[in-house]
Amino acid sequence: MKNISIIGSTGSIGTQTLDIVRANDDLKVVALSCGKNTKLLEEQIREFRPVVAAVSDESAAEDLRVRLSDMNVRILSGMEGLKAVATEESADMVVTAIVGMIGVEPTLAAIEAGKDIALANKETLVTAGHLVMKAARDKGIRILPVDSEHSAIFQSLQGNRSFFEAGSINNRLSRILLTASGGPFRGRTREELSDVTVEQALKHPNWSMGPKITIDSASMVNKGLEVIEAHWLFDTDIDDIEVLIQPQSIIHSAVEYEDGAIIAQLGTPDMKLPIQYALFYPERRYLAGERLDFTKIASIEISKPDYDTFLGIPLAKKASRIGGTMPTVMNEANEHAVAAFLAGKIKFLEIYDMIEYAMSEHRVVEDAALSEILAARDWTDELLRRKYNA
Ligand code: NDP
Repeated sequence: MKNISIIGSTGSIGTQTLDIVRANDDLKVVALSCGKNTKLLEEQIREFRPVVAAVSDESAAEDLRVRLSDMNVRILSGMEGLKAVATEESADMVVTAIVGMIGVEPTLAAIEAGKDIALANKETLVTAGHLVMKAARDKGIRILPVDSEHSAIFQSLQGNRSFFEAGSINNRLSRILLTASGGPFRGRTREELSDVTVEQALKHPNWSMGPKITIDSASMVNKGLEVIEAHWLFDTDIDDIEVLIQPQSIIHSAVEYEDGAIIAQLGTPDMKLPIQYALFYPERRYLAGERLDFTKIASIEISKPDYDTFLGIPLAKKASRIGGTMPTVMNEANEHAVAAFLAGKIKFLEIYDMIEYAMSEHRVVEDAALSEILAARDWTDELLRRKYNA
């Protein structure tokens, strides 16, 4: 039996993780959390019977305690609640399905408590990758990627050892090939992006995901964040990670070895596969769903991203090369901008303006401690609120 905690259980990744729990008797949920969707959380608590659960606000927690007075579950709130879910004693693994860099502190707390991490929350690695990877090494825990591209890279690396002998030979990668669908606005010019609506940006062609990552996919900031995520997870130089547009989302990513061999993972776009792979690694289990049928694919399209129109990747690479607190500023400016765009306060292209402005104003703190990362986050919010009134 494997016991899991899920932070962000009411979202896209969280609910799909619970679907996998439903299909596997040897997974048990011991802790759950959400932000505001207490109605769904209540249903999840009644179905999965965790020992602890957390919500954002104390007033919502109080309300939930009353509604669940017939159940034996502790209901907590705020950051303390998230950390309690992340460090629940009986948990073997924590699925970080929360959105945004609010995931940094609970993820670090979970690692400190010796839990393996199934990591969906990429913003944590983008902003605190140096702290998270060091803590994971020091504690000897495993960080298993849930993001489909990173899972594909991870799966492609499974051949990176001798088939016949124990121990790893750790062949060197020469490149990571990170694929992107290109999102709903692929092929558009900057002028054509100036007046796109929230509704248009929320229509992803291949994946059904939460609103923030869907907007990030439209702006390609998501791919920029993923480049930084891959840099930390696979200890690969940022300039050895090449993004390729693969509109059908058939090739989920690939690695290239020094001899030129490219190993890729392919399949239909279904997040349950990477989630399940992280939960049971290295075991593969049956997963219901459509299979990729090569005989029905006329061709596999691949092209280069348009870096002049979609600034997400160049901005993320720049932030990563500068390092220190700059990726935090890049990420937080984006979180701030996406929230403003979703609220109808700014236009789509202003997402890039906000990121560029915050990065241009920031004075970097090298080798930042957690407190300095959180300070850089707050500084970014304050700066953008003053400048844009949004
Ligand atoms: P969703 O928006 O669907 O879900 C986010 C979850 O986090 C919800 O449970 C939400 O609760 C909770 N949450 C949000 N804000 C807070 C807060 N302030 N305090 C506590 N909990 C909060 O996001 P996704 O599932 O799409 O994405 C989650 C993460 O996984 C992101 O980092 C994303 O980049 C990554 N990811 C997602 C993929 C996908 O297919 N969706 C693919 C690859 C990576 P509530 O419901 O109450 O708001």
